[in-house]
Amino acid sequence: MSHKLRVGELKALYLTEEEVWRIFTIVLTTKSKKSATYKFGLLKAMIENLYQVNEDAEVTYDQLAYSFTKIYWNLVIHHELEQGTRGSAVVTKLIEIKQSYNIPKEMTFDKLDATIQLAATKRVKAVMKTNVFGALYGDTQGSFYAFDHKTEQFKFHKVVLTFMRKYQRLLIDLVNYHMAKMIEQLNDVPHINYLLDKVESIAKRSTLKPFEKVLVQYFEQKCFYCGRELHKSTIQTHVDHFIPWSFVQSDQLWNLVLTCSKCNISKNDKLAVRSFLDEMVNRNERMVNLSGLIANKNELATYNKEKIIHLYDYSIQNGYENIWVPSYR
Ligand SMILES: [Zn+2]
Repeated sequence: MSHKLRVGELKALYLTEEEVWRIFTIVLTTKSKKSATYKFGLLKAMIENLYQVNEDAEVTYDQLAYSFTKIYWNLVIHHELEQGTRGSAVVTKLIEIKQSYNIPKEMTFDKLDATIQLAATKRVKAVMKTNVFGALYGDTQGSFYAFDHKTEQFKFHKVVLTFMRKYQRLLIDLVNYHMAKMIEQLNDVPHINYLLDKVESIAKRSTLKPFEKVLVQYFEQKCFYCGRELHKSTIQTHVDHFIPWSFVQSDQLWNLVLTCSKCNISKNDKLAVRSFLDEMVNRNERMVNLSGLIANKNELATYNKEKIIHLYDYSIQNGYENIWVPSYR
């Protein structure tokens, strides 16, 4: 486990900006890891320290721990957002400090006495050594920074440092967004949840019924995934985005299939196992050749099988790593 590492060296000497973007995207959006918000906390601390580095692109653990502690103090103590990390080490340490110094929740980190800030930072730094530096190092495939628990130095990859400075504003927004998204999932804050959900799905079509009609007309009424017959009255017909909507953000006939409600609901926002990609390519091959689908001619005219294969691979690269398999076939 990479988070147990005490030293991490930079794995790649040469990195392209494209590569840094790719890794960033995976780190921000990886859905399979139910990790705490630590990685966002460390990314925020890194962003705060982009201009605190020495000429070798190094910052001390103390500097990063100070930023990190401030972020968590304000989240956990001041805003009382426990982020599903109840009993997690950082939260435990901060609650201990709050209680031992009898600090009211109204106190933001900036207002704390310097000795208390120092005490909190020291304890959080110890947690970062076991749970944070190594974990993000692993998530970034050892390409973003090097670290050493003994010297307590953190060294940015120069390309990453330049990248983060160059896209700083955009990265702040991205990190904040994903951190908020994770926090809201872990806490009972329906009002924020409500807003973020709204913004995220603002472009989503409210009904896929028109597509269902077209698909029902031209294809066998069987669930694309489990093969159950859909015209039986007990089974509800759903339309599923083969490549999840949250990734494609659009409704193209060549990405839609008829499914039973059970498969659609359990697949949800996941990617189906790769064997279905082949079936999808075949299905679309037949669809393109159907002369009756005149109404949808345009989107089918620009379709080719590379498109859906690329989309499938891009989805995985973008963090859709949790592959769905129907419960029976
Ligand atoms: Zn099914």
